Amino acid sequence: MKDSLGRTIDYMRISITDRCNLRCRYCMPYGIQASRCQDILRFEEIQEVAACAASLGIRNLKLTGGEPLVRKDCCHLVEMLKAVPGIEKVTMTTNGVLLEQYLEDLVKAGIDGINISLDTLDERIYADLTGSDSCGQVVEALKHAAQVVPSVKVNAVSLDLGRENWIRLVELAEKLPVDIRFIEMMPVGYGKEFDSVDHRDLLEEMKGRYKGMEKDRTRHGPGPAVYYQIPGFSGSIGFISAIHGKFCSSCNRIRLTAKGYLKTCLCYEDGADLRSILRAEPVTAEERQERLREAFREAVWKKPAAHCFEEPEHMTETESMVSIGG
Ligand code: SAM
Ligand code: SF4
Repeated sequence: MKDSLGRTIDYMRISITDRCNLRCRYCMPYGIQASRCQDILRFEEIQEVAACAASLGIRNLKLTGGEPLVRKDCCHLVEMLKAVPGIEKVTMTTNGVLLEQYLEDLVKAGIDGINISLDTLDERIYADLTGSDSCGQVVEALKHAAQVVPSVKVNAVSLDLGRENWIRLVELAEKLPVDIRFIEMMPVGYGKEFDSVDHRDLLEEMKGRYKGMEKDRTRHGPGPAVYYQIPGFSGSIGFISAIHGKFCSSCNRIRLTAKGYLKTCLCYEDGADLRSILRAEPVTAEERQERLREAFREAVWKKPAAHCFEEPEHMTETESMVSIGG
């Protein structure tokens, strides 16, 4: 699927719940009024949207949330999406708290990759950031996942938590075959209240510490991360720099919220309400697919050229990250 600027759109993030078992300060510090179950897309509806998206050229799906693993039978959904013709990869981003419990089922369902969000390895800082004492549990699940999942990545939001914090994260990639990715904080939802480390500075500091750190030009997936390799390390270090390394001109993604709203940019509320199409009656399955396709084409065609995080007053998105899915 192409947008009006000629960008190929082949990646869709699907939020499957707006509930979460953590309270990250920059995302969902006080909890939210979770949506009513009937307002959230059912698995069959998500599969129908995915089938439509695949027929238009979406190849990669990423399940997100809220926390995807808190949704009952989430591993079954992975299986359902893997069965959609045209879909090549189904991956997930999780805070990792419930990962050990579901790892075996996720692997059985055919998960292609798991991103684990972990901003620190310091238990005290972790508790302060997330409201939970699960740091050690997440690290253990990460180590286990690295042995059984084809691709495992760590996502750490670049809060200014000090040098020791990023060093400990980077050094996870020394022995473990996992990519450690730093994500510049975006001014979405509560993220507006936090400053992000500038990745240009972070990279310089890292290069100073790790001699021979060089750009890694191998492809690590469909995302915008820029990777570096440190001599002797098993995994690579990635930077997702939405603010100081704007990548909108090559953006390949769209997002489906848990309530079935198709979003085309994190910064704006523009998109299409697919749930109302899925639930409109009476229509045949063919008519519904055609309406969905039309809504996809129209929304994608109008995908904004770029975000406006530099001028947050122009943002029209008012939802928080926990509702959008990151
Ligand atoms: N609960 C899952 C998790 O934490 O991976 C999935 C949903 S979470 C919203 C997805 C990702 O968005 C996490 O890696 C989180 O750190 C990131 N995130 C949340 N708010 C953000 C912000 N304002 N800027 C950048 N990343 C953010
Ligand atoms: Fe939950 Fe993920 Fe948001 Fe943290 S970042 S509150 S784990 S949805």
